[in-house]
Parts: sequence; structure tokens; C-alpha cells
Amino acid sequence: MTTAAHPTADPDCIFCKIVAGAVPCFKIYEDDATLSFLDINPVNPGHALIIPKRHSPNLLATPDEDLQAVIPVVKRIAAAVQEELSPDGINLHQANGPGAAQSVLHFHIHVVPRRFGDSLVVNWELRPGDKGEIAAVADRLKRAIERNRAAG
Ligand code: 5GP
Ligand code: ZN
Repeated sequence: MTTAAHPTADPDCIFCKIVAGAVPCFKIYEDDATLSFLDINPVNPGHALIIPKRHSPNLLATPDEDLQAVIPVVKRIAAAVQEELSPDGINLHQANGPGAAQSVLHFHIHVVPRRFGDSLVVNWELRPGDKGEIAAVADRLKRAIERNRAAG
């Protein structure tokens, strides 16, 4: 499904390039309006990003329709993370503007699995994860999402 650029695509936006299939990602879920994939700089295993396919730079610029499409998907991804990885908790994170350390100007919500004592702070430093580990976690989450969808 992620093979055509969205009509609103910004040529300088890395997430629009992922939506278009021009840049690879560890995709875990996709529907007409949204795409979910694992962060390449995971703060913990299973760190996922959910985006609307339409390009909007931040929360305030995002049409309600896209927000409405994204939230149930966030819940679905969080459910798969909880099932597969059994974190001690899950934070949702969403940054707007430089003071909030937003680094990609395409609206997105982070699903962040948490562990007691992981010492995560808001505005964390970006550190590349191991690609093999990210791919393996993506595979587990994809299967959990499929399983849950099939079960209704
Ligand atoms: P922000 O800092 O804007 O809240 O979050 C942007 C996130 O996108 C960061 O956590 C960063 O690691 C992630 N990111 C940036 N470029 C890429 C990419 O090409 N692929 C993936 N999967 N994640 C990316
Ligand atoms: Zn974009």
C-alpha cells in the first residue's frame, strides 16, 4: 500500500518519503489514512510511531479527520506492544516545535514501552537501534496486530 506519495507529500519530509515507499521502514500496520512503523532510534524495544499519511507539520495543523484516524490505531499498536513485550507501562509522546524537541515535522505519536528504572527523560537523545532487533520486534507486533484484528 505504501508505494504512492500522498497528494499532500512534502518532498523534504522523511515520513512522507516513508509513506511513498521511497525510504524503507519497519512497518507494523497500515490503513488508508495511517501508517505505523518502529522508530529507528528506539528508546526501548518496540518504540513505535503512528502517522497520518497526509502531511501536516504538527498537532495544530492536523485536520481532525486525521487525528480521529490515528487514535484508534495508537490503541491497537499499544495493545500489541503490551501483549508481545509486556512492558511495565506505556507512554504516548507527541512533540510540537523546537522547544519540545520535535525533530520530524510530520505529525506523529510515539508509543513508548516503559520499564521500571529505564531512566527515560522527555527530550531524549536519538541513538540508532540494532536493525536486526528492530526487524524482529516489528515482526512480532505485526503478527499480534493481525491476530487481534482477526479475533475482532
Ligand atoms: P520527534 O523528535 O519529532 O518527536 O520524533 C521523530 C522520531 O522519528 C525520532 O524518534 C526519530 O528517531 C524518528 N525517525 C527519524 N527519522 C526516521 C526514519 O527514517 N525512520 C524511522 N523509522 N524513524 C525515524
Ligand atoms: Zn510529511
